[in-house]
Amino acid sequence: MATDRSVALRIDVFTIFPSLIDDFADQSLLGKARRKGLLDVRAHDLRSETTDPHRSVDDSPFGGGAGMVLMPEPLFACVEAVDPPRPLFLLGPGGRAFDQDLARELASGEGFSLLCGRYEGVDARVTDHLVDDELSIGDYVLNGGEVAAMVVLEAVGRLVPGVMGNQASGDDESFSHGLLEYPQYTRPGSFRGWDVPPVLRSGDHGRVDRWRRAQALHRTVARRPDLIAARGGISEDERTLMEEFPPDRA
Ligand code: SAH
Repeated sequence: MATDRSVALRIDVFTIFPSLIDDFADQSLLGKARRKGLLDVRAHDLRSETTDPHRSVDDSPFGGGAGMVLMPEPLFACVEAVDPPRPLFLLGPGGRAFDQDLARELASGEGFSLLCGRYEGVDARVTDHLVDDELSIGDYVLNGGEVAAMVVLEAVGRLVPGVMGNQASGDDESFSHGLLEYPQYTRPGSFRGWDVPPVLRSGDHGRVDRWRRAQALHRTVARRPDLIAARGGISEDERTLMEEFPPDRA
């Protein structure tokens, strides 16, 4: 991961609802990061370069069918007027899956841009000749790319050095080492008869670390065997650890 940045990470978002993105980027950790100069989020209105009285950005599809499609002219004009940081990603259900690895890669780069579709989607010439790649946030269909852009903004923004209060928390959470996170507990030690695992209150940090690693493995095996397969299975040492510390039942 990049060390402290001298320049803010710039993220440009193209949308017909720029205020949604702007408001979102102004809240909470992202808002603080913006004000601290760590993040430079710029929302652009896809209608900004339109010349007709209705400021149209969409039209009906050639070949017929339901709904409207975002036209190439206003989208090309808006993006070209800004000359935003690249890569420029179109958000769309047919894109490459957005994940934590890509979030990390983008957080350590200089900047990137997001183009939000709407209606039935965008003219294929935008996909082929304007954007660099397409990103999907999951196998479901949204009404527009704005929520997807917010997902990317938040997942990337929090990884920019200085944005999260406790930088260590970024290295320890789900997906960071190809595993889900271990279970977390806080006070009280006993709640409605459910007790915090004694090892966490033992003060033995080595043992706590080993317990956490074993729980992360147990959880990932039970919930996301695909992640275990992707990291090439479980080592002998890990198997021993999992036997030493059985799954947390709380
Ligand atoms: N007709 C299209 C869906 C259009 S949904 C199709 O069947 O593929 C309208 C817009 O919402 C898309 O252009 C895209 O920008 C956004 N969108 C919808 N689902 C998305 C997803 N899973 N990930 C990212 N963006 C999505």
